[in-house]
Amino acid sequence: MTEETTELLIPFHRADVGEEEVQAVAEVLRSGWLTMGAKTLEFEKLFAKYVGTEHAIAVSSCTAALHLALEAIGLRPGDEVLLPTTTFTATAEVVTYLGGRPVLVDIDPSTMNLGAEDAARRVTPQTRAVLPVHFAGQPCDMETIQALASKHGLRLIEDAAHALPASYRGRPIGSLSEFTAFSFYATKTLTTGEGGMVTTSNAAAAERMRTMRLHGIARDAWKRYSAEGSWQYEVIEAGFKYNMTDLQAALGLAQLAKCDALRQARCAIAQQYTDACRASDALEPPSVLADRQTSWHLYVLRLNLGRLRINRNELIEELRRRGIGASVHFIPLHLHPYYQRTFGYRAGDFPRAEAEYARCLSLPVYPAMTKDDVGRVIEEVLSIVRSYRN
Ligand SMILES: *Cc1c(COP(=O)(O)O)cnc(C)c1O
Repeated sequence: MTEETTELLIPFHRADVGEEEVQAVAEVLRSGWLTMGAKTLEFEKLFAKYVGTEHAIAVSSCTAALHLALEAIGLRPGDEVLLPTTTFTATAEVVTYLGGRPVLVDIDPSTMNLGAEDAARRVTPQTRAVLPVHFAGQPCDMETIQALASKHGLRLIEDAAHALPASYRGRPIGSLSEFTAFSFYATKTLTTGEGGMVTTSNAAAAERMRTMRLHGIARDAWKRYSAEGSWQYEVIEAGFKYNMTDLQAALGLAQLAKCDALRQARCAIAQQYTDACRASDALEPPSVLADRQTSWHLYVLRLNLGRLRINRNELIEELRRRGIGASVHFIPLHLHPYYQRTFGYRAGDFPRAEAEYARCLSLPVYPAMTKDDVGRVIEEVLSIVRSYRN
């Protein structure tokens, strides 16, 4: 048996999909209505209730959700949007869809979220919006970000791809600001395979996003093939094909019903990791601030590189050899060729993001992990760290 063909003992992620999900999807298949319909509307209604907001619009991805939100605020070519460099490319790429400029911001090393002071320094007359990301599931410092937005008249769109369920000062993410975008991608805390949701407190924006997600056709276009529907419709804008399907929504409804229980399971795993980290001064567990609750989408461990003769990449490679999957979130955007070539960013531009990037790794954290699985990951991490202690 070669190393390359060995399956990982503990992969980085495994989706928590059970018999309920299989049943729910089979029911939709048997119904004969496969695309957006009654299930999607039901999912939107229950999701809005779950996060405590008025309007939820189901879409094909979080990327689509962010794009629709930026379109709804009327982002125009040359407009600037503040967002952290430590994120996935989707957060910034959507700004370019509308000809806008993603203005990268350094992070707050304690949480790896958007640094509000650095954001404030980068506001210009062209700045239209701020797009904070709740990194790993821990909400950003929303009070400071909201104050910055009000001071400069900026629109606020949250990238909550990691943050379901999460809360800030007792209020669920999805109910805090004008727009929040969620992801139901395969590895996220609630999955529909691919999918997303945008919530908003703005009724007019909700109407706009509902129209734009389905070809810019006036209200309820999806009904045109149903009994109440009519063949007549009006195209009022050049929209997008961003709708969800009932197959995805059925999966989403089954997942939503156990969203809290799944978070509890991730919480227990995170606690087990954090307790174990005390055994080594080369390990820095993530800290959760007292006024917020994280979803624990990711467990981002940081290394005290000064205490080790091994770097982050070597540690991940060593873990892989021992059958454990780990990952890195994220390669800062300003280190990627596209952002350097297009917007002139360079290595060295965001020292705090780079320093954390060099020393962070994400350990597996998903409900299907047993206590023994978590124990095994801990044992291997500690054993490697002991062998390479300075
Ligand atoms: C996963 C992710 C996205 C994109 O989600 P999709 O549903 O795949 O479009 C956006 N932002 C962050 C921070 C993510 O991790």
